[in-house]
Formats: sequence, C-alpha cells, structure tokens
Amino acid sequence: MRVPLKQSAPCPCGGAFYGNCCRPLHRGERQAPTAVALMRSRYSAFALGEVAYLWKTLAPEHIERKRTESRVLADLRESTRTQRFMGLHIEAVSEEGDSATVTFFARVFRSGKERSFRETSLFRRVDGEWRYVKVM
Ligand SMILES: [Zn+2]
Repeated sequence: MRVPLKQSAPCPCGGAFYGNCCRPLHRGERQAPTAVALMRSRYSAFALGEVAYLWKTLAPEHIERKRTESRVLADLRESTRTQRFMGLHIEAVSEEGDSATVTFFARVFRSGKERSFRETSLFRRVDGEWRYVKVM
C-alpha cells in the first residue's frame, strides 16, 4: 500500500498543494470543472495509484469499459506501481461545447528508464461531468 500524500504536499500535476488541487476530485468531493482539470487529476491519480478514480473518469465509450472493472483496476495497479510520474506539462487545450482535446507532455519513468510521452487526449462531458474518451 502507498502512503497517502499529505494535503500540504505539492500536487503531482504541478499544483501547489495536493489538498486543494486534485485531492478533492480524487475523493469525489468536487467534479473537474474543465477537461484540463480532469486531465490533471487523472495524471496525479496515475502518480498516486488512485486507480478507482481512473476507472470512474473513463467515458462510457472508452475501450477499457469493454473489459471488467476488476481486470482494468488490476492492470492499472500494476502500471501505477511500476512507473514514476515526474511531471506534467499542458501544451494545448481546445474546448468546444461538451467535447475537448488536451495535448500534454508527461514525464514518466519505468524501471529507471525514461518513458515520457506527448499525447493529445479527447474528453467529453457526460451528464455534466468531464470524462476521458481516448487518445487522438
Ligand atoms: Zn493537481
């Protein structure tokens, strides 16, 4: 088990304090107000092993929804355990109505090797809440 991150610690997404950045989203106390906020909270969820949040924030049409929740959670646990998430840089955001794309650069290391990547993700607002759809 991981030690929970202190509220006063820097947020893995780059926010000053985890306690008023991504933590309220991870705990279900707040919804992400924008696609970027959801993107950031998913990155910090990867960093902290908050796998239930990663599952919850997948759009209904996300390909992982075709598998069972327990299998997806097991894979997420493994990948969050073996990787280190060292920083997030948002490069571009485009939001129109209930859909948005976010281009970001994620610094990731796996077994001491750099596995950083740049990606554009598609998000969609489902019943008023932003959800992750797919990689563009
Ligand atoms: Zn954050």
